[in-house]
Formats: sequence, structure tokens, C-alpha cells
Amino acid sequence: MERDADVIVVGAGFTGLAAAQTLMDRGLSVIVLEARADVGGRVRSFETPDGTRRDAGGQFICDDMPEVMTLVREARLEMVESRWKGAAKTVSATPSRRASHRDNPLSARMEAADPADPALAGLSIADWLDEQDATEEAKREFLSMVHGLWCLPADIIPFWYLVDSDRRNTADVSELQYFLKDSAASLADALAARLRPHVFLSTPVSAIHRDEHHVIVETVRRQLTARHVLVAVPPVRARDIIHHPPLPEPLVRALGCWRSGAVIKILLRYDERFWSPEVSSGVSWEDVSGLYAFDVSQGDAHAAFVVFVGGPLALEWQARGAAFIERTVRERMGALLGDNAPEPVDVILHDWTDDRWSGGGYSDVIVDAEAYDAEALLRRGVDRVAFASSELSPSFPTYIEGAIVAGRLAAGRISDAVNAEDEAPGAGLKRVR
Ligand SMILES: Cc1cc2nc3c(=O)[nH]c(=O)nc-3n(C[C@H](O)[C@H](O)[C@H](O)COP(=O)(O)OP(=O)(O)OC[C@H]3O[C@@H](n4cnc5c(N)ncnc54)[C@H](O)[C@@H]3O)c2cc1C
Repeated sequence: MERDADVIVVGAGFTGLAAAQTLMDRGLSVIVLEARADVGGRVRSFETPDGTRRDAGGQFICDDMPEVMTLVREARLEMVESRWKGAAKTVSATPSRRASHRDNPLSARMEAADPADPALAGLSIADWLDEQDATEEAKREFLSMVHGLWCLPADIIPFWYLVDSDRRNTADVSELQYFLKDSAASLADALAARLRPHVFLSTPVSAIHRDEHHVIVETVRRQLTARHVLVAVPPVRARDIIHHPPLPEPLVRALGCWRSGAVIKILLRYDERFWSPEVSSGVSWEDVSGLYAFDVSQGDAHAAFVVFVGGPLALEWQARGAAFIERTVRERMGALLGDNAPEPVDVILHDWTDDRWSGGGYSDVIVDAEAYDAEALLRRGVDRVAFASSELSPSFPTYIEGAIVAGRLAAGRISDAVNAEDEAPGAGLKRVR
């Protein structure tokens, strides 16, 4: 059978782009099929009226993320050091009482927990919080962190999953240390530029057929044939793709135990950076759960705050409409920045909650308390069909760094499989160059 490539990669987020690059570096021919009209997935940019490129999705990186930092250096992209130093302040509705998230004893208890501890089996984060001897304020703050970062209600996320994911985030410095001057999407563009003309945009994959030697990947426009396929899309989106023959039952189960969250990202631009250093690092609010704001000014120019609304609050605000969200955020930022704070130049909102191709949050989250083996099963995949996404990374899952790591690891497994096939007696398979 004629083949279009050795490997077809479905999805041009950082997982797919990093995987495609690794496969090509190992001498394999690759085609990348992307549903959207641009690359980057959950990393996306938009242009502000002054011509600046800003992040609508994934943005922050740090020195402890080696893969992404290497790519940034290779692409010679300019980084901006953020002002956030890792000590988010909680402000009450009237911003007077303040406390630091870092001091929350519940964070230390979570870090000390063992995800395999039988005593934690079946507990949701909400159940675990109920059992904790801590102040209401500490519990509220912890819950806000969960809603803000995991973008789902705490009573449906298994506590072991939180502990396990948190352990794989090994940053000692603030994760919000830097962002790219021209947006993280400029890094996705740089990666994709190396892969052109092998990236096909606006080409969603609907079905994958596999037999002993090939895969046939179906898109709306045509069918493509390869030796292997890598499904580099988040788990919830991966289960939309139809497989012939059907995937084995354990794999169907492993894909079925995830849920997408909800997050809204809002940029408020100001004429100048008028606020005092006291409020500039990062804040959350005491009276609502899952609301955070960070200073993303570039030096003293391009003065701006970014506000994240995550989890149940994002769904509630979304239902009340964009005008409500904009008004509420303006009011809260006004109160935070001082009575005489000028109005922002503009308020630009990106609502990810119903995103067609990436789910609605920073990441999909396991919501089945029994699904301890789901990630391992997906990483293993099935003959000729591999799965990868940031969620499945052994390090920094749910971050851009995790996507690159997951993509590279999956590419390594596929290229090893191709080499083993080529070396098998009587293989007779030729690579497509
Ligand atoms: C608002 C927001 C803020 C974030 N902030 C940060 C941050 O500051 N720092 C950080 O490190 N991370 C951040 N993240 C998370 C980070 O963006 C993701 O972890 C990472 O980009 C995921 O990459 P991925 O390639 O695994 O998945 P995705 O980026 O989702 O890529 C999957 C790709 O597959 C495509 N696709 C899906 N289905 C199909 C199909 N059937 N056929 C073809 N293509 C398909 C999608 O269009 C998409 O392009 C943020 C995410 C969001 C949403």
C-alpha cells in the first residue's frame, strides 16, 4: 500500500509540534493534521489595537521548565520577566485583610500526601478538605486554588489525582516567572515553521482505521495512510475520534474518565502602570473562588493585568454573559487598584469554556476515583495508534512544558517501534522520504 508518511500526527498543539519535530529529527516523514486554522492549540494569541501580540491561552514559563526554555533560546524569542514572585495575596471584597497563599498549611499537607495511600482512595478533594483540621479561611483559599488551577468543582476531582499531578510539577521558582514578548504562540509558530509544508490546517480528523501494517486517517477532505498515528489531542477530544476496529475496552475506559474544565482569561490594558508595587504581583479574592489577577505589564510600557476566572465561577459568569463579566472585572480591578484608578483602555475576554478543540480549561482532569491506570494505558496506546497530550506528561502535566515532554516521549516510542519493524526479518517496509 502507498503511504503518505511514516507517521501522521493529529493536532498541532505543543504536544503534536514537539512530537513531529522529534520524529523528523529521527529521519521519519511526518504529516501533521490540525483542526483549527492555526497551530498552537491551547496556546493562542490575539492582536491588541496597538499592534501588540498578546496571549489568549497558555502564557507563562519558568527557568525550571527545561524543554520550553531550550526552544525559546533556539528560536531567539524575547522573554519578559513577570512581576509575580510566587506569593499571591488574598484580598477581601474590600481589600484590607491580606494573607499569603504560601502560608496555607493545607498546601503543605497535600504535598506530603502519597497518591497511592489507601486511606485516600475514593476521596474527592472536597471530601479531603472536609476531613482537615484547618481554619475556614485556609479551606476557602485552598478551594480557590483548586478551582483556579483545575477549573472543575472540587467534589468531582479525586484527591489522589491532585496530589499526583502536583508532584510532577517540580518548579522551585515561580511558574509565572516569564512570558514571551510576542506571546507563547510565537514559539508555536517557530516550531511549525520548521515543519512546513507538512502541517495541514483546518483539517480535523474524524476516524482512524488500523490493520497490522498501516493506519488510514480520515479527514473531511481525504484519507491519508501511514505506518503509525499519534493522537496529540487532549483526552476528551481524543474520544471523539472513531476507531476501526474499536479500541480495546480498557483504552475506551481510560479515555472516558476525563472531563474538561472551564476558564475565562481577561486582559485589561491601561495607559500607564499607575499602581503601586504593593498590588502588582498577583491577587485572588476572598469572597469568590477561582478568581486571580496578575500584572502582565511589559516593563513600564504596555501596562496590563490578566484576570483568570476558573471552575464553577467561570460557568456561573459565562451564563450571565460577557457584559456582566466585563463590568464585574472592571469593578473588582478598580477597587483593587485604588479609588482614583483610571478605567482600563480596553477589556479583552477569551472564554475557553466551550472550546471545540481543546476542552474548556487549562487541561482535562481525571474525574473517576478508580482510574489510577488511565494515564499509563493511554501512554501505552494500541498497535499503530499512540496517544499524547500535556495531561499525560510525567513532568509538568497540564503545562506547555508537559506538552513538549509528552510529545517527545511518544515520538521516541513510535520511532523505536518503526526501527524494530524495519529490523525484523523480512520486514521489507521502506520509509517514505
Ligand atoms: C487560558 C489558558 C491559560 C493557560 N496558561 C498556561 C500558562 O501560563 N503556562 C503553561 O505552561 N500552560 C498554560 N496553559 C496550558 C497549556 O496551554 C496546555 O497545557 C498546552 O498548550 C497543551 O498542549 P497540547 O498540545 O497537549 O494540547 P492542545 O494545545 O489542546 O493541542 C491539541 C491540538 O489538537 C487539535 N485537535 C483536537 N482535535 C482534533 C482533531 N480531531 N483533528 C485534528 N486536530 C485536533 C486542537 O485544535 C489543538 O490544536 C493554559 C491553557 C489555557 C487554556
